Formats: sequence, structure tokens, C-alpha cells
Amino acid sequence: VLVVRHRMQSSGRWARAVAILKELEEKCATPIGKLRQVADAMTVEMHAGLASEGGSNLKMLISYVDNLPTGDETGLFYALDLGGTNFRVLRVQLGGKEGHVVKQEVEEVSIPPSLMVGSSNELFDFIAAELAKFVASEGEEFHLPAGRQRELGFTFSFPVNQTSISSGTLIKWTKGFSIDGTVGEDVVAELTKAMEGQGLDMRVSALVNDTIGTLAGGRYHDNDVVAAVILGTGTNAAYVEHAHAIPKWHGLLPKSGEMVINMEWGNFKSSHLPITEYDQALDLESLNSGEQIFEKLISGMYLGELVRRVLLKMAEEAALFGDSVPPKLEIQFILRTPVMSAMHHDTSSDLRVVGTKLKEILGISNTSLKTRKLVVEVCDIIAKRGARLAAAGILGILKKQGRDGGAARDGGDMQRTVIAMDGGLYEHYTIFSNCLETTLREMIGEEAAASIVIKLATDGSGIGASLLAASHSQYLELDES
Ligand code: BGC
Ligand code: MG
Repeated sequence: VLVVRHRMQSSGRWARAVAILKELEEKCATPIGKLRQVADAMTVEMHAGLASEGGSNLKMLISYVDNLPTGDETGLFYALDLGGTNFRVLRVQLGGKEGHVVKQEVEEVSIPPSLMVGSSNELFDFIAAELAKFVASEGEEFHLPAGRQRELGFTFSFPVNQTSISSGTLIKWTKGFSIDGTVGEDVVAELTKAMEGQGLDMRVSALVNDTIGTLAGGRYHDNDVVAAVILGTGTNAAYVEHAHAIPKWHGLLPKSGEMVINMEWGNFKSSHLPITEYDQALDLESLNSGEQIFEKLISGMYLGELVRRVLLKMAEEAALFGDSVPPKLEIQFILRTPVMSAMHHDTSSDLRVVGTKLKEILGISNTSLKTRKLVVEVCDIIAKRGARLAAAGILGILKKQGRDGGAARDGGDMQRTVIAMDGGLYEHYTIFSNCLETTLREMIGEEAAASIVIKLATDGSGIGASLLAASHSQYLELDES
């Protein structure tokens, strides 16, 4: 009798786990009709954000980049890239049209987690110290004309109110950074002060978001690059806008007639977004509750955490992993997106990788194949919702630019349109990136999709920032005369 009752109980538990999965699937559903609504809402918010300051959740920040790299940039430039779990320093010798990038060196330093939630001075001092070390290792193959100051392109991947190409104040931190005393401050002034403290004589000649750097780096190699998307720890997009289509811009119309806009699409919000109880709880318990809602559905910082939350519910309500809830499963952010991706890509017939990861990361051993399959399904639902929403976001931009295939559908020619892409999520999570591309194709139609290219430009933002430093160099006029 005992055995029978146990069996009944366990089948009841299993049914409960499956019910939780089904509900997740329904709540996360992104049929094409819904994605079109999301894309349209994105386009509407883009207009609103361009119309007036604070007119939308989309900040549509003016980058002060009205000229993208031409290939003529020459000289020695540095770049510093801060915004994810690592920061990168780069030096590049630009050789103009013939030489292009003559030589480049890059170094990556991981940011001690304590610095991500410490004080502003500590963070900038640390960065400046690493940069100073890097500059000190400059070899003879790099050449700076005598008497000149070294110049730097600073990629700072957070929302910034630019006050010029080389200055801007931090609007808010995102992606797990939460540092006192930086919001509202000019981040270039902060960095410059820290560099002086290190005895480093260097001028920041361009301050750019990573999307802007990626767009600039992409354009350097391909003239048809008109937008950039980041899908990494965080997510965002930038694109080239007509300067006259930016009502909130009261400055002079640039000669090029263009202005690059940093959308800060991570902060996009819409009633059309498929939000679940897990998303709501994640947001409430996050460092930036109520903000970056789109980012929390899509980006690498959050996907694994969402999976953890679903599994935790299954453990609590359906005893998915046995009678007691595995203690590690209760730890926030313990299940990182690369681990989720590894489980999701497990092609072995017995889902060996899933078993190993559950054991290694969450301390859950002896899972049945059935349970492991369920885990993979959770990963699938969460990853594909994110990828499909990102595709809808891209469609929103293409619509705003009139490059969503309308011309092709009317029998006209489609311009080649290239989107420069960067970020570990897109680069490493193949199911995610494939799903994004398939969804985009599905939405705009095969014919139009043939002229839209998503080009992976890994770490292109460093080169991009150095190119923008070059085109905004204090010595430019001297060089041109
Ligand atoms: C930031 C953006 C950045 C994106 C990708 C977001 O959290 O707000 O400025 O471009 O992450 O790094
Ligand atoms: Mg990056």
C-alpha cells in the first residue's frame, strides 16, 4: 500500500511540474502577431523619445556622433571599454585608407565584484591604474608624434546624457552595477581625475556607449552598417537617424545630416510584453526595480536567473528534485546564462551535460532523464522568448529607418542593410541567435530578409571608440593642414 501511495504521489508531483511548465509556456508565448505589436510599440516609442526629453521610456540619447569612420583615421589611439563583467584596454595604430589597423593590442581585466557595488573613486582609480600599466607597456612599433598627448576613446556602456562628444553625465547604473556617487556626475571628469592621480597624461576625446562604438567599428569595415545591437550581459541598440527627425535636438544641424542615437532599448516597456510572475519577482528583487524591463526579459545577466526561478518553483511546489528544496537553488544568480546555454545545447541522448551541470552548480544529483528534459524545456522557453523579443526590437528599428522590407514588397529594390552585433549572449548561445534570425526572417519575409545582414563584430566597440577618438582628436586640424 505504501509503495502504491508513493507512486501516486509522485505522479501527482510530476503532473504539477508539467502544469507549471505549461503555464510558463503560455505566459511566455510570442506569436508573430504579438511580436508585430511589440515592434510597432518600439517604433512609436522611438518617435516619442526623439520628440522630447523624457517623452518615452526609450531615452533615445543623442550621441554627438554625426560622422562615422571613413577609413582615413590615422595615428596612435587608446580605448577603454567598461560595462560588463570585464573591462578592456586597447591601443591601436591606425594607418588610414591603405594601412587600416596597422597594429593593435588589447588586454582584458576582470572587475573585482566588490568594485561594482563600491564607491565611484575606487572604481575609477582601479581602471585608471590598469590603464596606466597598459600604457607603460607600449612598444616601439606604436608611434606618437613628439610633443603630443595620448588620446582615448572611452566606451562606457551605461545610459549617459552626453553634453558633447567627450563629456556626459551618468543617468543610472544598470547590469548589477550600483555605485554611490556617480549618477549625475560627468564620467569623463571622473576618469580624468583618476588618470591624473595615476600620473597618466591622457585626454578622453570621445565618450561613447558600446552600441555607438560597435556601430562605428562596423561602419569602418562595411559602409552599409546603419545600426548596432548588443546582446550580452545587458542589451541595447543604436542606429543612424536623420538629424531633422530629432525634434528634441536644438543644436546645429550637422553637415552629414545624420546623428547616431543610443536608444537604451533595455528600458523599453510595453503592455504587449509577455511578463510572468518570475519576471515580476526578479524585477522587484533587483538593484533597479521597475527599470530595464526589456533587458530583464532578454539579456545574459537575467536569462539563467529566470530559469533558476522557474526550477525553484517546481522544486517547491512539485518536489521536482526530491522532498526537500536543494539549498543552492535558492541562491540568486547562481545559475548563470552560460550554464543554461550548456544545458540547452546538450545533444547527448541521456542529457549528460544537464545532469552534470545540475550537480556541479546546484548540488542536485541523480536526476531522471524525464526531469532533465523538463529542465531543457524551461531553458528553451526562456531563451526563445528573449530571442524573439530581440528580433521584434530589431524590426522596430528597421521600420523606423524604412528598411523593413516595404520597398521589396512593393516590388522595389531593397537597400542592403547591415546590423553590427556584439555580445556574448549572441556570440555563444547558438539556439538564441538562430532563433533571433529565424524570427526576423519570418517577420519581414524571405525576400526582404535577403538584404538584411546581421554581422557579428565581437569587441568591435573598442576599435570603434578609438576611431571616434581619432576623428575627434585635438590635433586633427593640425594634421589636416
Ligand atoms: C546599458 C546600455 C548598454 C547595454 C549593453 C545596458 O544595461 O544601459 O547602455 O549599451 O547594457 O552593454
Ligand atoms: Mg561589451
